[in-house]
Amino acid sequence: ADSLDEDCDYLFKAVLTGDSGVGKSNLLSRFSKNEFRFDSRPTIGVEFAYRNIKVADKLVKTQIWDTAGQERFRAITSSYYRGALGALLVYDITRVATFDNIKKWLRELREFGNPEMVIILVGNKCDLHQSREVQEEEARHLAELENLFFMETSAKDNLNVEEAFLEMVRRIHAIAS
Ligand code: GDP
Ligand code: MG
Repeated sequence: ADSLDEDCDYLFKAVLTGDSGVGKSNLLSRFSKNEFRFDSRPTIGVEFAYRNIKVADKLVKTQIWDTAGQERFRAITSSYYRGALGALLVYDITRVATFDNIKKWLRELREFGNPEMVIILVGNKCDLHQSREVQEEEARHLAELENLFFMETSAKDNLNVEEAFLEMVRRIHAIAS
């Protein structure tokens, strides 16, 4: 069982989803440790990270799960999503195929996840604008259709990473408290 810190008011579970290589692990390491890695390596060992966040006057402990590379094999199981109140659904703005797969990931989130789950659509690698294949407008449109919050981020340049996670936690808190 998860143990709460004595001074912590809530514990929320959130998950990262999206195609392999879009930057999920780097978004998480940027958010939890302020670290970025240029090489790509499948997540091994630790499958989640924690961060305590102050929302209103409450201290929220957020447990964020990262896929240990299973997304390559489409082997993410329902236990990954179980109990998750939030998700960052990530694509890579320089690879349109990762954006085309967003619908597939959404179906999976809605099938296995909590119906009230807060989903943030994240277009990562916005530092690589010269290689852009997905227009911001296109993603914004999808987000409106699917009722998602949308943000472009760069784990590399540390742009909007904090904002994306905090927006998710704020929205979870608004629903769950
Ligand atoms: P994951 O498979 O979704 O967990 O993706 P990773 O976090 O392992 O990242 C895949 C590759 O993309 C790595 O080489 C990272 O260095 C790179 N990457 C991740 N985020 C960014 C970003 O915001 N900008 C750039 N330029 N590269 C990134
Ligand atoms: Mg990873």
